[in-house]
Amino acid sequence: MTTEPKERLDEDGNLERRCSKCGDWWPADREFFYSSGPAEKGKLHSQCKACYDADRRERREKKALQQTASGPAGRHRQRRPTGWAVVAA
Ligand SMILES: [Zn+2]
Repeated sequence: MTTEPKERLDEDGNLERRCSKCGDWWPADREFFYSSGPAEKGKLHSQCKACYDADRRERREKKALQQTASGPAGRHRQRRPTGWAVVAA
């Protein structure tokens, strides 16, 4: 059984990182991966930027769908019946 490494060196000695989603190798730097956690620790996200962005877009679209499915937007903005506050005197 082989465990697949997440990082490797290319023939020029540059560190590469494998995206956990698309499975492609990309240079392990912030141009291709978002940093995960505090930048000074130098940790990189396990997915490349393209996959991460696609994921985020998908989640946002799903969320938008759920909102429209759960009824009209802005129900909390329902207007109160007019005149109820002016009954004084
Ligand atoms: Zn990817």
